[in-house]
Amino acid sequence: MPNRLSLLEKIAIVQQQVAVAGLLMINIDRMKFINDARGYNYGNLVIQRFAERLGYLSPHFLGHLGADSFYILLTAEEGQALPALCQQLAERVLLASKQPLMVLDDALVISCSIGISIVVKPIMGEELLQRAETAMHIAKRQGGNKLSFYSDVDGKKALLMFQTEKALRLGLAHNELRLYLQSQCNEQGQLAGAEALVRWQHPSEGLISPGLFIPVAERSDLIIALDNWVLQQSCQLLAEWQQQGRKLTLSVNISPRHVRHADFVTDITRLLEQYQLDASALVLEVTEGILVEDIAASIQKMQTLAALGVQFAIDDFGTGYSSLSYIRNLPVQELKIDQSFIKGIPQHANDVAMVTTIISVARQLGLRLVAEGVETAEQNAFCQREGLWAQGYYIDKPLPVSEWQQRWFNA
Ligand code: C2E
Ligand code: MG
Ligand code: MG
Repeated sequence: MPNRLSLLEKIAIVQQQVAVAGLLMINIDRMKFINDARGYNYGNLVIQRFAERLGYLSPHFLGHLGADSFYILLTAEEGQALPALCQQLAERVLLASKQPLMVLDDALVISCSIGISIVVKPIMGEELLQRAETAMHIAKRQGGNKLSFYSDVDGKKALLMFQTEKALRLGLAHNELRLYLQSQCNEQGQLAGAEALVRWQHPSEGLISPGLFIPVAERSDLIIALDNWVLQQSCQLLAEWQQQGRKLTLSVNISPRHVRHADFVTDITRLLEQYQLDASALVLEVTEGILVEDIAASIQKMQTLAALGVQFAIDDFGTGYSSLSYIRNLPVQELKIDQSFIKGIPQHANDVAMVTTIISVARQLGLRLVAEGVETAEQNAFCQREGLWAQGYYIDKPLPVSEWQQRWFNA
């Protein structure tokens, strides 16, 4: 099939003759899952069958960008009709993808994500491609089996994301990340542990909160480098505490992408050995996001680490898939009730009911509960009465490690 270069060459030729060009970038959804489940040979056959189907479907210039990505180029003498034409074709592709593909002896149903970009003269091939790709990623992020048109806003957002990612990569190398701690108190109100929360001390922008840069990092393996930095700092700190005889847990947030990564277990075991840690004081906070892909493999990895004593907590519990039957199958010792539920305590009956239900289920499963975002004396009293650990501004705001230690150890 024509490749990326052929596309650029084709555009260079037709751009003399046409006023407007549209590009569909088509990517098969969950290809990684198919490869993982059935192997690459099978995956290659799926891609081949899909390419054949695209060939039947459209008389336009069709090519293969590589792996599971294809494109279709459409052109017109004048602009009006092309967006509708692109959309109709994209809808036909989505529909056709749903017809089972015959691969070896199976009838496999797949879906795809399609990004569409349209540019008018002067038509630049790279621009057309890049915009279609941006749109395709947006369709993917909406869950796949979708088409999405490029719009300028998306382009600006993509550029900002891209710049932030570049700066963060540099920041990590230049030691601009900072470790903060926020306390967790047990039901007697005594300090029992802390959560490690990362900040980015940007040379010109100041202190940046993780809400702004973690999502950017999570788009690539940059999040793994970031997680590993936090883990290394945290294990070093925990080792100091253990040498001082302090019985405190330290919780570290782990991105689902890191859990899925091949090095996850070795990253952690290496640190446990390096710092000679009592692993049971290390709590890894994962979100229900780990239940979306590669579930069996993730559970297996968690079990391997749990066997070494490492504890796991489900963060932001109640906001995600929250299937309690899944939680039962996970080697998890702790649930962190999301702050959105704690906010309504004690005045909102719904929140109280929700939290009470979580408490009773957690008790039956023998799980420790931590309330996040405890901001008032009432909420703190509720936690102590119900036997929950508490974390939140009522106790302290996240503080740089040295300040936190000063406050809690030298008091
Ligand atoms: P999270 O793990 O659920 O962390 C709790 C967040 O709630 C923290 O925000 C904390 O500062 C904030 N918080 C604590 N107490 C209160 C309170 O009483 N009221 C309110 N309104 N908020 C409170 P932060 O530090 O901005 O972190 C945001 C998120 O970023 C974290 O949510 C976590 O998902 C992620 N994150 C932070 N550090 C790391 C890290 O080292 N690695 C990874 N992968 N993610 C991290
Ligand atoms: Mg957390
Ligand atoms: Mg949370």
